[in-house]
Amino acid sequence: MFSALLHRPGSPLLQDRSDLVDRLAQALPRGAVIGTGHNLSTYERDGSRDVSGDPLAVVLPEATGQVETVMRLASQAGVSVMPRGAGTSRCGGAIPLADSLVVGTSRMRQVLAFDADRGLIRVQAGVTNLAVSTHSLPSGWRYAPDPSSRRTCSIGGNVGSNASGACALRHGRTSDKLRGLTAVRQDGSRLDLGGHCQEPTALDLMGLLCGSEGQLVFVTEVTLALDPMPESAVTLAAHFRNTTAALAFAERVLCSGWTPYRIEYMDAHAIGLTERVAPCGYDTSAQALVLVELQGFDEEVRAGLEQLRGLLPGQADQVGKVRSEASDESPLWHGRESIYRAASASGAFEVLDVNVPLGRLIPTLQRVGELAATRAVPHATVAHLGDGTLHTFLTYDPSDGAARSRVRDCADDIRLACVAEGGSISAEYGVGLSRRHLLEAQYAAADLDQQRRVRHAFVSNDRLNPGKVLSSQVDFVGHVPA
Ligand SMILES: Cc1cc2nc3c(=O)[nH]c(=O)nc-3n(C[C@H](O)[C@H](O)[C@H](O)COP(=O)(O)OP(=O)(O)OC[C@H]3O[C@@H](n4cnc5c(N)ncnc54)[C@H](O)[C@@H]3O)c2cc1C
Repeated sequence: MFSALLHRPGSPLLQDRSDLVDRLAQALPRGAVIGTGHNLSTYERDGSRDVSGDPLAVVLPEATGQVETVMRLASQAGVSVMPRGAGTSRCGGAIPLADSLVVGTSRMRQVLAFDADRGLIRVQAGVTNLAVSTHSLPSGWRYAPDPSSRRTCSIGGNVGSNASGACALRHGRTSDKLRGLTAVRQDGSRLDLGGHCQEPTALDLMGLLCGSEGQLVFVTEVTLALDPMPESAVTLAAHFRNTTAALAFAERVLCSGWTPYRIEYMDAHAIGLTERVAPCGYDTSAQALVLVELQGFDEEVRAGLEQLRGLLPGQADQVGKVRSEASDESPLWHGRESIYRAASASGAFEVLDVNVPLGRLIPTLQRVGELAATRAVPHATVAHLGDGTLHTFLTYDPSDGAARSRVRDCADDIRLACVAEGGSISAEYGVGLSRRHLLEAQYAAADLDQQRRVRHAFVSNDRLNPGKVLSSQVDFVGHVPA
């Protein structure tokens, strides 16, 4: 478990606070700097909610040129910078250290260019994931990577964490859609990569920067590839008496030659939780539910649906009737998409985003159940079956300190069990602050050392998003909220 210490008084950097804040306020438009005496609480924590930090100040630039100024002044003052998007990180990636300047993108919300013929869009880093699709829809395009936080999370944050979602199976994750990127380095210099096509030559720096969790550069502008809206979309829901039959069906679908738009699993606990807050007709007597969505041309989707029905097991393994409905008219996804709300309704929760090879899903799900039972933690699991990402929700009463620490330990048990199965501690959210203590379970020391060397090629003195992922800083300076 990561350590959280109280704010270090007397830090020389803190004594320089007002100097730097004054210089930033002079260089930037009015209101761009939020310093001492203002309420910075919004910027002290993120979606992980576990720990909060005291930022030195918050800066909200409006354009790349202003980010260059901020980075240059911070670098000259020897102050660390923490890039922040919407702060929805679930791994403490956007919690500032006490001596860090938070540089947020909430005023960088412009669509800079839109090519409706070729399906390309260039946006500032603060534009939300959903706004990219909303802007593109009238011209028949959408932005496919679909984190569940898409209404709020920013494209800069998506690049920071290489965000993905249920449809990554068919359309890929953020890195698959990235065509160009402008970023600012620690010293305030600008980096322009890519353009209208995939980065053509030399090192794939965009690939390196995507998912680097604010530890290498500050992303300011991004060019993204869009996908055409499908003619038709249909969802099939099948309930099963046991997990084995459900996963065997999913495997037959994935081996059939069809790549579904998404194929999702929900266990009995997840079905029960979601039916309580967003009833949409899931059968609560089932042990498992598989939802499959096909998208494409009308005829193709109709044929695919017939093929799917042919892959279902005999009635003895199923519960109730199979439902298939046009996706836009069907409530079938309401339950699955309400899982975060459903978990909140049962108290507080920690959600995992672990990953295992598809062939290891059954033993892993069994192990999750055993580990949660050992620590007496209520749990519910949903999974993206296309890529083996498990989201297990571990719920607890927030007023019970012992339950909270049991949940944290149980989460680590499950992450390590996934590594033992050949999987990873994080498939989507990243490492940030709260999983960095597990990195050594995932990587050999020499591999981690090589990653740190790459970071040092971009960042000196640990001054970009310190305290996270590959940072050499051991202790996090912040508060554990009551
Ligand atoms: C309810 C909920 C559901 C979620 N579902 C998913 C999901 O389905 N899939 C998924 O992948 N994630 C999911 N997440 C996690 C989170 O939303 C994503 O990681 C998202 O991409 C973070 O975007 P953000 O704008 O909030 O970034 P922040 O939380 O502000 O930052 C995330 C990381 O990116 C860095 N960063 C932010 N902006 C920049 C920038 N401009 N330049 C460089 N680095 C930057 C930060 O330093 C930090 O390390 C979920 C979170 C919540 C709360």
